[in-house]
Amino acid sequence: MTQDTSAKKTRRARTRSFQAEVRQLLKLMIHSLYSHKEIFLRELISNASDACDRLRFEAISRPELLADDPELSIALEFNAEEGWVEVSDNGIGMSEDEVIQQLGTIAKSGTSDFLAGLSGDEQEDARLIGQFGVGFYSSFIVASRVEVLTRRAGLPAEAGVSWSSEGQGKFTVKGAPGLRRGTSVRLYLKDGERNFAEPFQLRSLIRRYSDHIAFPVSMPGMGGEEDGEGAEPPREIVNTAQALWTRPKREIKPEEYNEFYRHVARDSEDPLCYAHNQVEGRREYTSLLFIPRRAPFDLFNRESPRGVKLYVQRVFIMDDAEQFLPLYLRFVRGVVDSRDLPLNVSRELLQQNDDVRAMRQALARRVLDMLDRLVGDDADGYQEFWNEFGRVLKEGVVEDSGNRERILQLLRFATTASQDDAQSETLADYARRKQDDQNEIYYIAAATPSAARSSPQLEVFTQRGLEVLLLSDPVDEWVIGHLGEYESLRFRDITRGALTADELPGTAPVQVADIVDREDAAALLRRMKSVLGDEVSDVRSTARLTDSPSCLALGEHEMGVQMQRILRATGQELPDSKPILEINTGHGLFKRLALREGDAELFEDLTRLLHEQAMLTQGRELDDPGEFVRRVNRLLEN
Ligand code: ADP
Repeated sequence: MTQDTSAKKTRRARTRSFQAEVRQLLKLMIHSLYSHKEIFLRELISNASDACDRLRFEAISRPELLADDPELSIALEFNAEEGWVEVSDNGIGMSEDEVIQQLGTIAKSGTSDFLAGLSGDEQEDARLIGQFGVGFYSSFIVASRVEVLTRRAGLPAEAGVSWSSEGQGKFTVKGAPGLRRGTSVRLYLKDGERNFAEPFQLRSLIRRYSDHIAFPVSMPGMGGEEDGEGAEPPREIVNTAQALWTRPKREIKPEEYNEFYRHVARDSEDPLCYAHNQVEGRREYTSLLFIPRRAPFDLFNRESPRGVKLYVQRVFIMDDAEQFLPLYLRFVRGVVDSRDLPLNVSRELLQQNDDVRAMRQALARRVLDMLDRLVGDDADGYQEFWNEFGRVLKEGVVEDSGNRERILQLLRFATTASQDDAQSETLADYARRKQDDQNEIYYIAAATPSAARSSPQLEVFTQRGLEVLLLSDPVDEWVIGHLGEYESLRFRDITRGALTADELPGTAPVQVADIVDREDAAALLRRMKSVLGDEVSDVRSTARLTDSPSCLALGEHEMGVQMQRILRATGQELPDSKPILEINTGHGLFKRLALREGDAELFEDLTRLLHEQAMLTQGRELDDPGEFVRRVNRLLEN
């Protein structure tokens, strides 16, 4: 019944509009990918291969779907004179609703944000669009018109659908009864792109980009015309047609791994590195894992798909099987092919399966091995990796305590000893450079590396030549909090708690005599506290500062600044605790306070200014910025 009505509703051609995001993507793509036109072929063959994979998977429980056409394959046809090229498969196909949905919209969440964020710089945008994944729509780079004929496996012959579009914002859908199972996509090439209908060109593109596809990709064979009138030319299989990971490692060239990666990860760039392992013994499986060169646009979206493509005995089972890798390695892409899992395994089953858990641990170690190798073989490559994915890998310190020691070696930091804000120093570097009597690793957390680097709290450390880690990723305080120590060096937040000059290693600089008498200073600090009331929990003198007049210190048990910022940004209540205002009693401004003690108004202005400056250098917001500006102007005029 339902099939009847769906056949009826498609009889008449109906024109529809592409989703706005598709229109935008089409425009951008045609504009920025013109120098990589040939990618359309790889994308279409990749889709055809996925369609065959999905049919083989559905046929595990419904063998009748394969029916009288059990050999899954991909075929190219072309006609140089008429200027078209066609990619066909006998895979899963699409129903009418699926065609409208899948070839008229983009399902990825965050797409409009992604498109809005493109820079207008052609090269950069081309790279980003490549990473986003252009897929089917890349046909319009070379085609002035695209026609798709498709029939979903399991639906009757009348359920065939034709889809066509000139890529200008609209597409037309119409019933096409009598189609065979699967999909064919025909591209009518633009003038100037007709070379893509030449067999020589097509053959070399398939060999270059699609050799790893596990299904045979065929073309009409050479010399076919001589076979006489009406006879089908013999077909030539152009690719190796064997799942890449099942081939012996030594026979696979790096370019083949790279092309395979582009297919699995839908990335336009080569991976940074890969690891291919065939495991035998109690559990038998093959893994082929890749680390991408660039982070996807949705790396920090917890909902975005992650994980590997899962195969069981070479049969594709599912995309994005996230159970095979821990969350902190969610950037890893690739394939796992198990010999032991049941073919009908579900996501729920994967979650509970002990073998899967053991495989996840083994795969995590493989990824860490791969990163260790990268550190050793290609330091720049590792730095590139860290810049893209360091923020994610760090989570492993908390998530994967079993591998904590290994992950620690992989961490990279910006420090006061490095030239720029790049995160490029290891904890081992720090430990090697530390002073003999130093038993702590100093760190400071701020919103940006430059804010960390210009914090007044660093002054005494700089003066004594003590290195400080400059932390600026939102997860840093949380990660360090879990670390406690590294090679028995305790981590210490240099903005927290009291700090006296004699507890620091290094040579103390020659003491400049305090300008203000000790007892007078204490009385002044008390008076400052009474001016500020409960805006601060205390006002005290400090050894932290050498140049600045004031700074804020956290109480021993107060929440760190990053954590506070995260809570504020998510609109959560902050625990009620006030920072301590610390004063450099050797500073000229403090001397000025002492001298002009009698002028109550000036005393209050200077006190408040010292507090406000301390807030600002720590990236905090002032309660009343207008009053702050008036105060500064008053003082400037005086
Ligand atoms: P992607 O393949 O990255 O999802 P595409 O734009 O290339 O994106 O394709 C969109 C969707 O259209 C696919 O996810 C798939 O559902 C469907 N599709 C494309 N080509 C085929 C095909 N040859 N057979 C069946 N479905 C297809």
